[in-house]
Amino acid sequence: MKKIPMLIDGEWVHGDAQTYLDVKNPSTGEVIAQISNASKEHVEEAVRAARVAFEREGWRQWKAYERGQLLIEFAHYIRKHAEEWSLLECRDVGKPLSQARADIEAAARYFEFYGGAADKVMGDTIPIEDGLLNAVVLEPVGITVHIVPWNYPIQITARSVAAAIATGNAVIVKSAEDTPLTTHAIAEWLADKLPKGIFQHITGLGREVGPYLTSHPDINHITFTGSVPTGIAVMKAAAENVVPVTLELGGKSPNIVFADANMEQALEGVVRAIIQNAGQTCSAGARLLIEERIKESFISRLAQRFQVIQVGPGEADMEMGPLLNEQQYTKITALLQQAKVDGYVVTGGEPLTLAGYENGFYVQPTILDGVDPNDPLAQEEIFGPVLTVLTFSTVEEAIALANSTDYGLVAGIWSQNIDTAHYVASRVQAGQVFVNNYGAAGGIQMPFGGYKKSGIGREKGFVALRNYTQMKNIAIRYAPPNQH
Ligand code: NAD
Repeated sequence: MKKIPMLIDGEWVHGDAQTYLDVKNPSTGEVIAQISNASKEHVEEAVRAARVAFEREGWRQWKAYERGQLLIEFAHYIRKHAEEWSLLECRDVGKPLSQARADIEAAARYFEFYGGAADKVMGDTIPIEDGLLNAVVLEPVGITVHIVPWNYPIQITARSVAAAIATGNAVIVKSAEDTPLTTHAIAEWLADKLPKGIFQHITGLGREVGPYLTSHPDINHITFTGSVPTGIAVMKAAAENVVPVTLELGGKSPNIVFADANMEQALEGVVRAIIQNAGQTCSAGARLLIEERIKESFISRLAQRFQVIQVGPGEADMEMGPLLNEQQYTKITALLQQAKVDGYVVTGGEPLTLAGYENGFYVQPTILDGVDPNDPLAQEEIFGPVLTVLTFSTVEEAIALANSTDYGLVAGIWSQNIDTAHYVASRVQAGQVFVNNYGAAGGIQMPFGGYKKSGIGREKGFVALRNYTQMKNIAIRYAPPNQH
């Protein structure tokens, strides 16, 4: 069985063999690798090595464009090995191969984008008075910790790691226990390209290893992507040491379909927004808000479309793959069972057993209707291919429903009326709003993050570089040379 080592201080490190954790392929249930469960000492060692590497002149003397060139070279490497890396992600997460391919390309784009940005992160000068030059300089924050979830491992690792390296920081990544493989591939490539200690990879159980990292007094920033409860725990730990956090948390995002929408476009948009990665996407369109007068025809067509969605193992590259693991599968099948008893299921609602893949974690894509807007099915993240339908009659009602959860990550608006689209976009509480599309093809360049409990701060785009820099104001007094 392949044992995935951690990368600490430039060395490949295995933990205690007694505590190895299995990594499974969700499509087959097979164990495909094992990882170490890092100890407190491993974390201490990584932070110590990062501090030494960050303070050492070597890394400081890398020119900004040299950091950028390395990241761009990495993007080329990833593209050259895209098929191999896609298979790795597909087996690790269970997602259909073409969705894994899109993730690999997105990762290459992040390295390329932030590589290009590395020497364009500029400070400012501020006019004060004659004889005083006031410069605002952007410096790296220092040791940045990146805690990554299992649903888009390479994309989420790449987006924050690329920005942190571009700005000259030291990076420690803690990958999710279920999906460490592509982060290990990143570590393999970066290991001998960067000074040791500048990029490190730690593996292990989040609830054990996570707090060692987040409560460490010598780290300087945490980027956490994951669930709200874990995000709160991370923020509390960071607060003890006054360490800043960027939190990318969950969502229960609405797709709001008005009667004047282009129906074909809206229908396909709604399907894709919930089916992608089997609904295990922070920005999944998990609620459909549908205008009353088109409800019957829209839901009937939607149900027909759901019934022909092909579900299969990642490598067979169908529209939808399995859920990640047994825990998710047990949670979601129990919830669907109850929804069935309560009479909410329009279509789907059952677990799926696929011949030859009996140990995979498959469920039917599901539509729920008749749910009260305050019911947990309409309020909480399910993180599966489950779409909850809610109905509205007026624009104001649509807005109130859209804003009725604790989340505020993304919203989709489907309307051909320019007034409706703009007005609703201005009233919806969400970090990203899409009109007559959902996701804008990934949008590496677009700021991404949440209103309300969906998070703090923004990732992606140029603005994310600010997460990994701190501002220093330098005021320089000067005088004519003959007055010295
Ligand atoms: P999770 O919160 O369980 O775990 C996320 C990461 O945190 C994992 O690496 C885990 O090992 C680690 N972790 C667990 N306990 C920890 C602790 N006490 N301290 C520090 N780290 C700890 O989330 P998940 O189940 O892996 O991912 C799904 C969640 O992530 C969903 O809520 C989803 O919406 C969210 N998500 C958000 C975004 C975004 O960009 N906003 C992207 C993807 C996923």
